[in-house]
Amino acid sequence: VDPNIQYDMEKLQDTFPGFRQQYRLIKRIGEGTFSTVYKAEDLVYDQYDNSWDYDKENDKWAPPPLRTYGRNSNSSVTARPRRKPKYVAIKKIYVTSSPTRILNELDLLHDLRGCTSVCPLITAFRETDQVVAILPYFRHADFREYFRKMTPTDIAIYLRSLFTALESVHRHKILHRDIKPTNFLYDPSTKRGVLVDFGLAEREGSECKPCLCHEDPTTRRNRLRTAHLSSSVPHNGYPKQDTRPSRRANRAGTRGFRAPEVLFKCTEQTTKIDIWSAGVILLTILSKRFPFFNSADDVEAMIEIATIFGVKRMRQAGQLHGCMFETSIPTIGMQGFSFERIILWSTCRDTNVKMPEDEKLAVEFLSRCMDLDPARRISAEEALNHPFLQMGLE
Ligand code: ADP
Ligand code: MG
Repeated sequence: VDPNIQYDMEKLQDTFPGFRQQYRLIKRIGEGTFSTVYKAEDLVYDQYDNSWDYDKENDKWAPPPLRTYGRNSNSSVTARPRRKPKYVAIKKIYVTSSPTRILNELDLLHDLRGCTSVCPLITAFRETDQVVAILPYFRHADFREYFRKMTPTDIAIYLRSLFTALESVHRHKILHRDIKPTNFLYDPSTKRGVLVDFGLAEREGSECKPCLCHEDPTTRRNRLRTAHLSSSVPHNGYPKQDTRPSRRANRAGTRGFRAPEVLFKCTEQTTKIDIWSAGVILLTILSKRFPFFNSADDVEAMIEIATIFGVKRMRQAGQLHGCMFETSIPTIGMQGFSFERIILWSTCRDTNVKMPEDEKLAVEFLSRCMDLDPARRISAEEALNHPFLQMGLE
């Protein structure tokens, strides 16, 4: 065992009185920007199997037969059979996280208790500035190990589980903000998944500054019609003296998974940002490339998206939020490419050979998730009724 990890585990056990009596730390399973997660055994959980069984032969209910444990008669004990050990995930939130942020995560998880496919919160402890959250341990595989082998049906089952979680979260008017493979724990053998990590999540409408994308269609049409007449911005360039206030918006999330409206600094972001990120996961699986987007910053991210969608659609997407989109990069075309083409290229297939029907359906669903306009993008509820996710119903 790495001595640093061992040291951190000892320290954690010493922080909370009675910790060692309740949990046995096993190993570190995750280390992120905001927390370290450990696998542990819950020792206080009823270790003995109390369940009575119906004894057919004697026509009565009976407790499980006693069993003797231990090798020699001096030290052996006779007891009820032990249950399978119960494992938990202990999320140690870094003390550098702000108290409001920590409370926010626990508060949202509490609201979402009982939601299918969302990892429930068992309890949480605080000792001075250290907070730990206790979650049931969920066995899962590393995304990179299975995503290249998935058939369209496997993908539909995987996404059905992810969108079931998203539907619950969005029904509670909560934006997860960090949908990506490491935050959706999936077990390909049981075909079950749970959504974790509400560290960046927020309630819809937390930012109250209105964005143009929420104005009604007539007002928008009139604005766009007169925009080129009144604009002080030269048509083909950036203004020399830009006196406009700089835009600020929540940009939390992970590089490569940020929705276009996040990049355009929309101040009225909705749950649709999670749908875009789920779409990026689907694009990753279909193209068999991870990470699909690999930008270092928001400008590069915009260039990557523009390469697929083309200048024309990017301009329209920007206008929704009152932004201009201009580029002189030669590889960004006017029209962009279809997702079908992008996927055929990424998987080194002949673009003249037809795609199988079930994969085509997946691509059609992808285009609904990765719609540049958040208002037109499919919702989680609608997604569950889409023929592609219906394929995931066993
Ligand atoms: P962070 O904010 O540090 O990203 P997460 O909640 O995403 O924290 O957890 C980090 C990692 O720990 C996850 O990617 C996953 O591998 C592991 N993990 C988190 N919760 C669980 C759980 N309930 N069961 C099993 N592993 C988990
Ligand atoms: Mg995470």
